[in-house]
Amino acid sequence: MHDLQQKDLRFIWHPCSQMKDYEGFPPIIVERGDGAYITDIYGKRYLDAVSSWWVNLFGHCNKRINNAVKKQLDSLEHVIFANFSHKPAIDLGEKIVEITPHGLNKVFFADNGSSAVEIALKLSFQYHLQTGSNSKKKFVAISDAYHGETLGALSVGDIDLYSKIYKPLMLDTYKVPGPDCYRCRYGEERESCSALCFEQMEYVIVENHNEICAVIIEPMVQAAAGMKIYSHRYLARLRKICSDYNIHLIADEIAVGFGRTGKMFACEHAGISPDIMCLSKGLTAGYMPLSLVLTTDRIYDAFYSDYLEKKAFMHSHSYTGNPLACAAAVESLKIFKDDDVLNENTKKADLIRKLTESYSNNHPYVGEFRHIGMIAAIELVEDKSAKKAFSWEKRVGYNIYKVALNEGLLLRPLGNVLYFMPPYVVDEKDIEHLINTTFASINKFFGIK
Ligand code: PMP
Repeated sequence: MHDLQQKDLRFIWHPCSQMKDYEGFPPIIVERGDGAYITDIYGKRYLDAVSSWWVNLFGHCNKRINNAVKKQLDSLEHVIFANFSHKPAIDLGEKIVEITPHGLNKVFFADNGSSAVEIALKLSFQYHLQTGSNSKKKFVAISDAYHGETLGALSVGDIDLYSKIYKPLMLDTYKVPGPDCYRCRYGEERESCSALCFEQMEYVIVENHNEICAVIIEPMVQAAAGMKIYSHRYLARLRKICSDYNIHLIADEIAVGFGRTGKMFACEHAGISPDIMCLSKGLTAGYMPLSLVLTTDRIYDAFYSDYLEKKAFMHSHSYTGNPLACAAAVESLKIFKDDDVLNENTKKADLIRKLTESYSNNHPYVGEFRHIGMIAAIELVEDKSAKKAFSWEKRVGYNIYKVALNEGLLLRPLGNVLYFMPPYVVDEKDIEHLINTTFASINKFFGIK
């Protein structure tokens, strides 16, 4: 083992990891990043198929973003954001309001996705309190939801792996069975369905709307749940019922924003605008922690009054609105425009779909291949006709991940779901490497010749 690996294990506790696993599988120490690839201390290159936890958009060490950050670094690295401001944040605020769905006119800054979700929940609760609906104290989320790891965010999440143990500490929220298109209980197909499953949400809202502040949802794709893609009709119906019952719709676009689903923001698939939108991850193209919470004028106005009325939103994080992060974000938005990124991505997405489809059809363990924009996922199952999942104890995804790493590919499966969410700079050769290596690794694991 390299001495850096030894030192790492002596001092560092890694995220989302059973550290005992690292005994036989020490951390890969990365020395350099370049486009869609990272290189470790031994010179081995890995294709970053998951954009380093879904944050990277335009490759590692992108020249334009590097230069923007370097330039900013020479004038201002950070400054308190209460009563003070700076051009990168102002530029970002202006540009983001311009490109997000209609009506989201005010931008609150924070520094990571979970904090953005906490802010959204607090804003919604306080809005209702200050506008006379003080019975509205609860939030609604759908099954398999994921919104981050802090206690408020976990409370509106529904993935036991992350939250079960902390239930005694969490807020009491409504969890509604959401869309499950691969195993649809209504016998519908994702592409043609009329979102019959929405009846469960409708029931909870109609029965309990007096208590409900907001519904929070990941538009179009429940990412951490295994890239579960659902119909835009579900979102459209959700928007309508929230408006009817004075309930906020919080769109958590932290994973799906910035072109991941083929549109700049996933809400656009349903032609809707939420009351509150959370953005992070791709916001800085994967460079620095930053998050934004966008709201309507209506929400903003409910907080706007004389100080003595105690209506202000008294929330802050030390690194809020960090200028370096804002400079990276502004440059990233320029790249979207200059390089016509969304259009260019459609060709890449097509190639990913075609190649993956050709491998998936008739593969004995691929239960479903699903895709939207630059997200593609393969759900591996033990029994295709029964859609029976592999038991979690088999760690199928994790074991395939280790095989793929050996072959120079960084996947990070979600349970039995392998997925591709590469940086947008991948070219045809990278895509072929990505998919050929994934299926070679799957087949090697299962002993398929
Ligand atoms: N919401 C969604 C949809 C996410 O995917 C994530 C992160 N995976 C978060 C919130 C939390 O963001 P962060 O990790 O920056 O706290």
